[in-house]
Amino acid sequence: MSESAANQAKPLVLVVEDELPLVTMLRYNLERQGFRVEEAGDGQEALDRIGEVQPDLVLLDWMLPGVSGLEVCRQLRRRSATRDLPVIMVTARSEEQDSVRGLDTGADDYITKPFNMDALLARMRALLRRANPMPVKGRLAFEGIELDLASHRVQRSGRAVHVGPTEFRLLEFLLQHPRRVFSREELLDAVWGKDIHVEPRTVDVHIRRLRKAINGPGESDLVRTVRAAGYALDVEMS
Ligand code: CA
Repeated sequence: MSESAANQAKPLVLVVEDELPLVTMLRYNLERQGFRVEEAGDGQEALDRIGEVQPDLVLLDWMLPGVSGLEVCRQLRRRSATRDLPVIMVTARSEEQDSVRGLDTGADDYITKPFNMDALLARMRALLRRANPMPVKGRLAFEGIELDLASHRVQRSGRAVHVGPTEFRLLEFLLQHPRRVFSREELLDAVWGKDIHVEPRTVDVHIRRLRKAINGPGESDLVRTVRAAGYALDVEMS
């Protein structure tokens, strides 16, 4: 994995806090524990930054200048893009009785200042695990093609088919949406990832390899080319 790809894999935490020493302490500890950290110093900045950086988790101070943490949380829950974004509310001990109210507005958890870093990390990790459960490994099938996600094996009509890793991901994606036509750009985004710059004709190369692998002699071509539109996994009409 390249350095930037490894970096992308680290969960991104948005620390919303107006006490600078606490922000510094959190950044130091979270980065040492393998998180990326972004900051916002008040509620409005938090709402703006969330759309911009798309964090995996928000550490949200209750008492903020301007828009309160409580109101930030409420607004996040109202927006469809952030409805399920994990939020941990950070409260001072004197506000503890209010914490329950924080949970009512949709915070997933809360922690009271001064807090123990290990306790906070445990809660953050638990929340991230809940938000991103391991995908269920199963089997995808279409017209005699079977793809086993656990063993990474592909078969057509019972015979083993050998495909490269990119063709495997391409086939996996097409099997998830049989008969739907995808443009080269859509396939690039779904299979290669949005941040990676690849020429659209690369898709053609891998589609060609996929066809060669899955279509045995005398078998129908299950990858349909839709002129000017893209590709679909389908039974070719002849
Ligand atoms: Ca504060």
